[in-house]
Amino acid sequence: MSHPPLKPLIEAAADAIAGHAEHLTELDSAIGDGDHGHNMKRGFEALRGEADVLSEKSAGEALKAAGMKLVMTIGGASGPLMGTFLLSLGKGLGDTIDRAAFNAAFRGACDAVAARGKAEKGQKTMLDVLYPLADALDADAPISDLPRIAQDAADATIPMIATKGRASFLGERSKYHMDPGSQSVALLTSVAADWTGEFS
Ligand code: ADP
Ligand code: MG
Repeated sequence: MSHPPLKPLIEAAADAIAGHAEHLTELDSAIGDGDHGHNMKRGFEALRGEADVLSEKSAGEALKAAGMKLVMTIGGASGPLMGTFLLSLGKGLGDTIDRAAFNAAFRGACDAVAARGKAEKGQKTMLDVLYPLADALDADAPISDLPRIAQDAADATIPMIATKGRASFLGERSKYHMDPGSQSVALLTSVAADWTGEFS
């Protein structure tokens, strides 16, 4: 294969989600319905089960297949949205994995999530981590800086008032809690950056 092996990435992502599932569920219990850790774990364990098959594909095809799997297996809002992200990233990438193509595909995937969820940045959703990552990529930030940028962006959702998703039902009371989907994206950014670092 022309790209680094995907199996260790899939396994590291599934391990990270499993290891943090309880925390993600706690975050969702505060401002949602307490299923986010469980939802994410179900989706990423399904990906783990497909790791060998996915590893045989090109990066673009693997991302598309992984996105479809997440759409089908994760319940709640996060499944279709995370799935849409991977699906769109895969479509945008095709078989090209240079940095410029990746940056463009990443921003396109953010826009696809925004369109699917009828949301924008600033509403206390995963978009509040995804768009800062797209900006950092466009600004040529080193990959090793991305985990910190993502975690800072997830932390920055704490004072926000949710105006999309289940947390928006709480209005003002959604303040002072971190958005669970944002924490998931930060976690996965760290896994992906570590994996990229091993091969660059
Ligand atoms: P549900 O809200 O259906 O219980 P989850 O708990 O798995 O689903 O996921 C909640 C996360 O999904 C939120 O923390 C938020 O980041 C994300 N989310 C919810 N609605 C939207 C939306 N319209 N656009 C983008 N992200 C959203
Ligand atoms: Mg939930």
